[in-house]
Amino acid sequence: ISQPQEVCLEGRAGPSRSSSNRVIVEASNIVKHYGDLAVLHDVSLRVTEGSVTTIIGASGSGKSTLLRCMNLLERPNRGELSIADEHLRFDRDSRGGLIGLDRRQIQRLRSKVTMVFQQFNLWPHLTVLGNVTEAPMRVKGKSRREATRIAEHYLERVGMLERADSYPAFLSGGQQQRVAIARALAMEPRVLLFDEPTSALDPERVSEVLSVIRSLADEGRTMLMVTHEMAFAREVSDQIVFLDEGRVGVAGSPAEVFEQTRHERCRRFIAPAA
Ligand code: ADP
Ligand code: MG
Repeated sequence: ISQPQEVCLEGRAGPSRSSSNRVIVEASNIVKHYGDLAVLHDVSLRVTEGSVTTIIGASGSGKSTLLRCMNLLERPNRGELSIADEHLRFDRDSRGGLIGLDRRQIQRLRSKVTMVFQQFNLWPHLTVLGNVTEAPMRVKGKSRREATRIAEHYLERVGMLERADSYPAFLSGGQQQRVAIARALAMEPRVLLFDEPTSALDPERVSEVLSVIRSLADEGRTMLMVTHEMAFAREVSDQIVFLDEGRVGVAGSPAEVFEQTRHERCRRFIAPAA
C-alpha cells in the first residue's frame, strides 16, 4: 500500500519522511494496577502510521508498563487498545479476570507489535540466526528456509549478517541489541516498541544502535520508544509524551514539549539543572 506523501509536521526537528494521517495505535483510558499499586491512570495516546513517538518521564512513572501494555506483556485492567486493526477492550469481569480477550487475538497482536528490550533478551542457547528465525517459524508458521531468508535480510539490515553463526555471549552489547532489533523486524510487525534500547550499553556502543533506530525511522516505520537519550528523541520523534506518575502530563511535537510546555514537572525533567 503506498502511503500518501505529507508535509512535515510544523516545528518538527526530525528528518523529513513520508507518513500518513492514519492512526495505527490508539490507546484509550488505559488503567493498570499491580495489586494495590496504581501505575497507569487513564492513559490515552495516538500514534499515526510511519511516525515515531517517544515516551519520557521519571523512573517509575510507568513508561515500561505502558509500552508492555501495547503488546500485552502486561494486561491493562481497563481501557481500550486499537493497534493495526486489532481492537481490544479491557474490563474486569465479576471474578476479577479479563474478558473479551482470546488467545488468537493476543497472538495476532503480538506478531503485529514487537518489542526490543533494554537487556536484549536474546536466547543464549541459540545462535544469532536461531534467535531471529525462532519466532517467525513458531509464531507465524514460516518454513525454516523462508525464516532463514527473512532473518538474513534483517541481519544484513542491522550489519550483523557476518555473525549469524555466533552465540550471543560472544557479542558486544551493541551487537546483541542489533540482533534483537533484527529479531523484532523479522516478524514484519506494523509497530516496533523500544524500551530503553541503549541504557544497558557501554557508552561507545550507544551510537551504533541509535543509528540503526534512526534508519528505521527514516524508512517510515512506526515506532514507540522509551529513552533517556533526549537529543536523539528530539531529533527522530514526531511526538513526545511526558508521563507523569502514570498520567500523560504533556504530549506534543518535540518543539512543544522541549521548548514550549508550561508543565512544570516536564520542564524540570528536561532541564533538571535549569
Ligand atoms: P518506568 O519504566 O517509567 O521506570 P515502570 O513501568 O517500570 O516505570 O514501573 C512503574 C511502577 O510500577 C513502579 O513503581 C514499579 O515499581 C511498578 N512495577 C512495575 N512492574 C511491576 C510488577 N511486575 N509488579 C509490581 N510492580 C511493578
Ligand atoms: Mg522502564
